[in-house]
Amino acid sequence: MPNAPEPDPVPGPVSVRRRLLRWYDAKARDLPWRYKKSEKPDPYRVWLSEIMLQQTTVATVGGYYLDFLARWPTVEALAGADLNAVLHAWQGLGYYARARNLHKCARIVAGGMAGRFPETEAELKKLPGIGDYTAAAVAAIAFGRKTMPVDGNIERVTARLYAVAEPLPGGARRIAGLARALASKTRPGDLAQAMMDLGATVCTPKSPDCGACPLKAVCLAVRAGDAGRYPVKAARAKRPVRHGMVFWARQSDGRVLLRRRPEKGLLGGMTEIPSTEWREQKWSPGEAAATAPITAKWRPLEGVIRHTFTHFHLELTVLTAETGNLGKNGGPKGSLWCLPSEFPDHALPTVMKKIARHVEQSDGSYSS
Ligand code: SF4
Repeated sequence: MPNAPEPDPVPGPVSVRRRLLRWYDAKARDLPWRYKKSEKPDPYRVWLSEIMLQQTTVATVGGYYLDFLARWPTVEALAGADLNAVLHAWQGLGYYARARNLHKCARIVAGGMAGRFPETEAELKKLPGIGDYTAAAVAAIAFGRKTMPVDGNIERVTARLYAVAEPLPGGARRIAGLARALASKTRPGDLAQAMMDLGATVCTPKSPDCGACPLKAVCLAVRAGDAGRYPVKAARAKRPVRHGMVFWARQSDGRVLLRRRPEKGLLGGMTEIPSTEWREQKWSPGEAAATAPITAKWRPLEGVIRHTFTHFHLELTVLTAETGNLGKNGGPKGSLWCLPSEFPDHALPTVMKKIARHVEQSDGSYSS
């Protein structure tokens, strides 16, 4: 009877580290927040870049990072900034809870910690807005702690390197354990960034360039001839669709009613054009008008505004009303009246800008 084929040897961490660091020294991306080997990283800058990079691409973050540093070059400067100025500067990066936590965290570090970020993952995780990934990234890059942050890129590289057959999300724990076992004692920050770069430029989701990869000689997925199979994913649940109706109330001088969203929850603390609750059942105009922030003669506007959040698709329709002259304070508590030309001065999230554009295109009232 022929012998069963030997299983492929599991890639050894020493060999993987050596290959990755050699590749990183030659091919590291030139990014505004990167440090040269001879430079001492500034924890504030490392933290700022890592918060911005959560859920956002490197290409988008670059300009914001430099702009923030120019305006608030130290954690003390950021702590002294007005929250609205920070939210305003954050516009376009999305996920605004990050901006609020960024500001809160800066105040804690600049206040009770005398401007010094803690060095360990456990202590970093006690700060607002810092989860497992960011704590590991800051500890490794800023403080040289032996650890490995595990984001989507690093998860993918690791899943392929070890050909992890267990599907996500259940397999994430095992993959994270394998990734962390690769952490370098001598150059933890560089190794983490090498993994990030490899995932972003070579071991990409759809078309890994295995021929150019420093790990090709040890990668189990490539040996199996099926790199694209990993990480294996469980079938994804469909995003639900939610519906809402927006109240576009306009005074005779062209001012439109805005209000501030509650601090907690989706788009917390941002400015919005008032709307009904966003729910799975559609609203009728009459039902929606009964929940309007002011009593007026509401008329529906044609068309639907679509926007996708992480967990649901949103479909909005608009009700408009001419309110005559109510004066500056003629709205419910916490609201304000503002000319559409002044919208850029407020922290309006993307979905609200879409609404304003929709009204403008429908009846020209945006630009009045
Ligand atoms: Fe990814 Fe291919 Fe490199 Fe394996 S050899 S880590 S699949 S790019």
